[in-house]
Amino acid sequence: MQTGRCLCGAVTYELAGDLIATAVCHCDHCQRQGGSAFSVNLIAHESQMTIHGELKAYEERGELGDQVYVRRRFCGTCGSPILSEITLSAGIIAVKAGTLDDKSAVNPNVEAWCVDKQPWVALPGMAVSMERE
Ligand SMILES: [Zn+2]
Repeated sequence: MQTGRCLCGAVTYELAGDLIATAVCHCDHCQRQGGSAFSVNLIAHESQMTIHGELKAYEERGELGDQVYVRRRFCGTCGSPILSEITLSAGIIAVKAGTLDDKSAVNPNVEAWCVDKQPWVALPGMAVSMERE
């Protein structure tokens, strides 16, 4: 069981069981939402996560018609990104690893959207590097 929270503490969560993967995402949208060069994501099933508190949502649509393809959920008080729902893969979520209470065991080995990767970023230990998702 892993626990986490937003910056202000209005939102807390528990994440149970084994992760599907731990993945770095270099996409431009993650860079903008996180204010950083990439995001670090705990890929899991929605049923593994229990959320306490209210999350706001920002829906990304348009890449494939008007369909929502990512629903980014964040604390409406402090703005911390908590998770993204990968709506094209029903029930799959990407929990933002920086919100964990204990981040010491996070060990990403997959990176996605390398097409947007910044030239000054080099990450060791990546078993899989994908140009896009
Ligand atoms: Zn908050």
